[in-house]
Amino acid sequence: MPKNPQYRHYRQCLFCSQEANSREHFYPEWAKALLTEFYPYRSHSLDSFEVRGTEVQKVTSVKVRTGDARSSPIKVVCSTCNEGWMSKLQDQNKEIIIAIGEQRKVTLSDEEQLSLSKWAIMTSMVIEYFHPNLAFSTFEEREGFAETGDIPVNWVVWLAAFKGELWTGHNHFGKHMFVGHTDQPQPTGIGIQSTAWVVADTFFLTARRSEVPPQFEYYGGEKLPEINMSVQIPKIWSISNPLNIPVVDDETADNISRAPLQVAQRDSRRAWEKGQE
Ligand SMILES: [Zn+2]
Repeated sequence: MPKNPQYRHYRQCLFCSQEANSREHFYPEWAKALLTEFYPYRSHSLDSFEVRGTEVQKVTSVKVRTGDARSSPIKVVCSTCNEGWMSKLQDQNKEIIIAIGEQRKVTLSDEEQLSLSKWAIMTSMVIEYFHPNLAFSTFEEREGFAETGDIPVNWVVWLAAFKGELWTGHNHFGKHMFVGHTDQPQPTGIGIQSTAWVVADTFFLTARRSEVPPQFEYYGGEKLPEINMSVQIPKIWSISNPLNIPVVDDETADNISRAPLQVAQRDSRRAWEKGQE
């Protein structure tokens, strides 16, 4: 079986053919300047659900490292992208994200929703590489997005203002489709994932489902689930009209982060808990 296309480009910039030589922080510099508290430890936790034939298996991994989650860098992009189109998207959206977080902005125009959605998808594409085995965007999609600014298919973005104090990292859930026998399962690079995080008191949630090629569609009788669209907060991609921005607390945001993949709370920890090591 060929190597997954999204692994092939891992040491290359996520968005172009240059080398990944720039350290990108999932938590942007402009937002870090607003923080008053830092935490000495961070935990990267994820729950993945591997679809192997008819079996769905849960895999939990928790890594505890020193340093605040919001200063945790990931070297997956090149300096041309980082200082070019990515920095432009940061500049275009930072004032509006701050205004949402401060609850000065309670509704969004279509243009604002589109611009924030691009920012959120760019950020998700970087965050998913904290867990490369659960990264399902393809290089072609990311490259096309970087070049044209057009949002690739099958992405959903939701947003709310956030009033809480426990969230510092992100909640990333994924279901990866494996094929082959249970003792030697092969990753397909096809899956469904969701990412939730808070920046400057604004809560973002994204979800993405791979296009499933016909040969995998009914593999082992198990179908890759669809994204659950019953989420308590409004989506901004695709655009909602009218849109009123609600305010969520720590626990509500954590519950909402489980909705797109319908992950039960008993199956995973809260976004701010360390979980078992
Ligand atoms: Zn690049």
